[in-house]
Amino acid sequence: TASTVASAELNRRARAVMPGGNSRTAVYSSPYPIYVRYGHGARVVDVDGTERLDFLNNSTALIHGHAHPTIVRAVAEAAARGTSFGMPTETEVAFAEALTARNETFEHVRFTSTGTEAVMMAVQAARAHTLRPKLAKIAGAYHGAYDATAINNDGSGSLITHATLGIPAGVSDNTVIIPFNDPEGALEVLGRHAGELAAILIDPLPWRIGLVPASAEYLAALRGFCDEHDVVLISDEVGSFRIGMGGAIAEFGYAADLTVLGKVIAGGMPIGAVTGRRDVMAVFDPSAGSPPLPHSGSYNANPVSMSAGLASLALLTSDEMDRINGLGADVRDRMRQILADHTPGGWTVNGNGSLFRVLGPNATGADGRPVNAVNLLSRALLRHGVHIGDSGLGCVSTAMEPDDVDAFARAFTAAADDVRACLAQ
Ligand code: PMP
Repeated sequence: TASTVASAELNRRARAVMPGGNSRTAVYSSPYPIYVRYGHGARVVDVDGTERLDFLNNSTALIHGHAHPTIVRAVAEAAARGTSFGMPTETEVAFAEALTARNETFEHVRFTSTGTEAVMMAVQAARAHTLRPKLAKIAGAYHGAYDATAINNDGSGSLITHATLGIPAGVSDNTVIIPFNDPEGALEVLGRHAGELAAILIDPLPWRIGLVPASAEYLAALRGFCDEHDVVLISDEVGSFRIGMGGAIAEFGYAADLTVLGKVIAGGMPIGAVTGRRDVMAVFDPSAGSPPLPHSGSYNANPVSMSAGLASLALLTSDEMDRINGLGADVRDRMRQILADHTPGGWTVNGNGSLFRVLGPNATGADGRPVNAVNLLSRALLRHGVHIGDSGLGCVSTAMEPDDVDAFARAFTAAADDVRACLAQ
């Protein structure tokens, strides 16, 4: 097993100045996270010098892997021209053109610095457009850190509207929780709030509730409700846009009024975007005086992210998309086969395109206590040279070749054997 002493030492220093020693809940892991030194292509190297295959790719944001030369050049050239301005740029216009060309429903677009902010602006746009207060979201689904959407986002299917201690009751009063892939159940809840709903927010491939796709009947029921009651349907594709050239609405064949994008569209630089119907997006338009919804942000459409985005989208051709989606299908098939051959069972592998998530059985350790089997698996994978998320989330990048999938399968086999040895038989 590779040494992690340099990470342990860094974490000791880090805990003196940051709670837990870092700035992101998802990348903490107990007893301390492994700190990265650099990445190249499909690989990351940690501060102890250990190299691993990266199948997490910064929570699926890095569709071209680490430090892709074309993206690095775009970033360097943009930075040399100035990193942000109090004026719009030509790169912003060019990136808006490139992005709206991906899907005909992306009529107008506005850029933010993160997916969280883009979700926030989409929800506020729906409120400003409909003049109604409430938002419906799916039980357990994750949409970032914005108050109204950070309610009931822990992956549990419970319909109870539970917020974090940082979110006051007034916010949860305006968030309506609907069950996933249950058209009748969702319509029943929605019907009770019809006249007050501004928007329904759905990630059609919600990773935190298992990366199970929304069914066609479910999407049709939500669309029908929105049409009947003039509610804005928002498709959060911060994670799921990468499944096809036109994003998830194109792959799943449903119509959203607004789509929220992030992550892959800027190849690893901070980004978010709200896009969709021109008449809804008009709430942002300041040309006739103060707009219904002012949209501020010192780093909105910052030229470095815009430039990285142009490079990233240009690299994401339909041939490359097909290639990584094929590798993704291969990875999922091989994981299913390895888990079936090397563990007692109870595992599921979900995913579309280049995305995957492994779900584990309710397991008991050799000491008789309950254990999180997926955590055991992700840690075993780290020891065998592969990084996936602690929750079993992962993806393929364009930096990968079939050889990398073979190396992944070898590590996955060894990790599955380790997990079997840790579980009560
Ligand atoms: N929506 C979804 C579906 C996401 O997966 C995420 C991030 N994992 C976000 C929104 C928030 O994006 P960001 O992390 O860029 O704020």
